[in-house]
Amino acid sequence: MSCFRLAWRMPALPTPFGKGGVIVTQARSYAAFDSVSPLRPHALERREPGPTDVAIDIQYCGICHTDLHFVKNDLGLTKYPLVPGHEIVGVVTSVGDAVTRFRAGERVGVGCLVNSCRHCPTCRDREEQYCPSAIFTYAWPDRDGSITQGGYATKITVDEAFVLRMPENLALESSAPLLCAGITTYSPLRTGGVGEGSRVAVIGLGGLGHMAVKLAAASGAEVTVISSSDRKKSDAVRMGATDFLVAGNAEAMAAAAGRFNVILNTISATHDIVAHINLLSKDGTMVMLGLVTEPVAVPTVPLLFGRRRLAGSLIGGLAQTQEMLDFCRDKVITADVEVIPAESINEAYERLGRSDVRYRFVIDTATMQ
Ligand code: ZN
Ligand code: ZN
Repeated sequence: MSCFRLAWRMPALPTPFGKGGVIVTQARSYAAFDSVSPLRPHALERREPGPTDVAIDIQYCGICHTDLHFVKNDLGLTKYPLVPGHEIVGVVTSVGDAVTRFRAGERVGVGCLVNSCRHCPTCRDREEQYCPSAIFTYAWPDRDGSITQGGYATKITVDEAFVLRMPENLALESSAPLLCAGITTYSPLRTGGVGEGSRVAVIGLGGLGHMAVKLAAASGAEVTVISSSDRKKSDAVRMGATDFLVAGNAEAMAAAAGRFNVILNTISATHDIVAHINLLSKDGTMVMLGLVTEPVAVPTVPLLFGRRRLAGSLIGGLAQTQEMLDFCRDKVITADVEVIPAESINEAYERLGRSDVRYRFVIDTATMQ
């Protein structure tokens, strides 16, 4: 009994020991505490680096539409508090004894993945994003039983196999969105064999769409943007598009029938895809990239007539993400960003909800209190 009382009175272990005796370090972050309230400051514990870990001081983190879905629990997977963010860039502060690829002081990035099983067929193919045991950067059960917490924070600790090298010639704040929006659009361009002479259409000129235009144009393709209005036409041309279609212009859409080898569909809300499938060439593929939580009606007739394909694609593996970053280094490609202080995250969410962003919000984590 006395033992029990002694244990019961024992105060919580002070930092640096967290749950299970793991040595931890304190970080500042912004978290969602339920599906409707504004995000607010939150004290976060990060593990000290194990043998293969890299400890990173986060400098910037992009805001992706997927963050909103998880904050609102649209997929039913969210456990609160949730720190979103998977477009993470910063500087290495320390590394574990067995780390070989990174040193303190280097500029690095972390995208949507922080671990996988490493031995299944997809891991062996370096497509860890499709691993059945993939661990995503936030809202995902980690191996120690905790829930992963993302990059709206001042620090993160990640296994070196899931850390990317950021190009030295690109500003960190405008290269952060490459880690989700960049790889999400780069991967299907490579899968689709896009190069010189390819005709690519990009539906929606937002965070994903504007990266799709830049990456497809830099790959040698002729790029057309399809949008609901012509408000962003001059931006599309500046980013490398050579043509612009307004989706509601039936005459222009009919004239473009059969034209595109690959269509990247970046819309993240339910929408009518019938008119867009007709724009595909024979054997053309429309790739769905937006996280649409409601079903999309698919007409079969325009798929059959032309052997057209409707596909999906999810980010990219670690090797391809590094390849994309190196491609952006060589072609000098970054995102168009609006850098915001942490206190503006909730306002940014409201603006993102009504597509009022050109073209990615990026949080400056130095502003976190
Ligand atoms: Zn994302
Ligand atoms: Zn695996």
